[in-house]
Amino acid sequence: MSAKGSFRPDTVVTAYVALGSNLGDSKAIVLAAIKELGERPGLCLAAQSPLFTSKPHEATGGDYVNAVVALECSLNPVELLDLTQEIEQSHGRERSFVNAPRTLDLDLILFGDAQIQSPRLVLPHPRWAERAFVLKPLSTIAPHLVSEEMLRAVSDQPIALLV
Ligand code: AMP
Repeated sequence: MSAKGSFRPDTVVTAYVALGSNLGDSKAIVLAAIKELGERPGLCLAAQSPLFTSKPHEATGGDYVNAVVALECSLNPVELLDLTQEIEQSHGRERSFVNAPRTLDLDLILFGDAQIQSPRLVLPHPRWAERAFVLKPLSTIAPHLVSEEMLRAVSDQPIALLV
């Protein structure tokens, strides 16, 4: 596999994408983004977590709406990153300052067993296991990836199901 992220899977790979929003109509934005991901050529929505709400973690602004989706993906990792960034932009995402409130943040968490260290893309996402807003939703659709111990390690980060 190329360290540059040009790896193209021969077969379909399961990719996990975390979604977050704390600006605008966050619930509607996250749901719209999930739908858009599933409709893109090369992607098929395999599973979708419930929506959660979390306090900003190393970030500013109001509470977040979060979810994680599993995608059956026949794109390569950089193509998937391009696509997630395009969807962020279409929802008015501005990178005004680091960890600023955002209408939509899409993070590539895992891409099969791909390990990539490139200037644009690091996989697995370097901080996925430190974040309750990733682990909790992920545990609902991929419990084999999230141990009780991992959840315990982030149990100080407030997160709840959004009702
Ligand atoms: P953020 O502002 O938190 O959305 O960070 C996005 C930046 O992180 C972009 O410049 C991406 O190229 C880079 N990046 C590196 N690895 C990843 C990843 N696994 N998922 C999403 N963005 C990533």
